[in-house]
Amino acid sequence: MKIPDYTALICKGFCAFYREGKEELHCGGYEILRHSLTSAELEALSSLCPCSDTLKHQIPPEEEEMRSLVCGTCAFAADGCDYREDRSGPPCGGYHFLRLLRAVRHGG
Ligand code: SF4
Repeated sequence: MKIPDYTALICKGFCAFYREGKEELHCGGYEILRHSLTSAELEALSSLCPCSDTLKHQIPPEEEEMRSLVCGTCAFAADGCDYREDRSGPPCGGYHFLRLLRAVRHGG
C-alpha cells in the first residue's frame, strides 16, 4: 500500500496513468523517490517543479541512463510500459518528477 502523501504528490500530481484505487503497484520512479526523500522534502521539491496536464503527457527524448536507472526495477515491467518499451507513450509520474528534479538541479 502506498503512503498517501507520496501518492498525492507523485501519482496524482505527475502521472497521466493514475487511477484511484489502483495503487498497489509502485513504479520505479515512485520507489526511488520514496526511498530518497521524506514526504516533507518531496512536498517542498514538488513546489519547485510544477506539473501540468501537458507535461504529464509529454514523451521525453531518449535518455538511456535515466531510463535504465528509473525503469530498471519497475513493478510495471510485467504489464508493459510504452515509454520503457519504445517511447510510444509518456512515462509515469515518478519518472517525470525525477526528470524535473534533475532539470532544477542543473539549472534548466
Ligand atoms: S516510465 Fe514506465 S517503466 Fe519507467 S518507471 Fe515509469 S512506469 Fe516504470
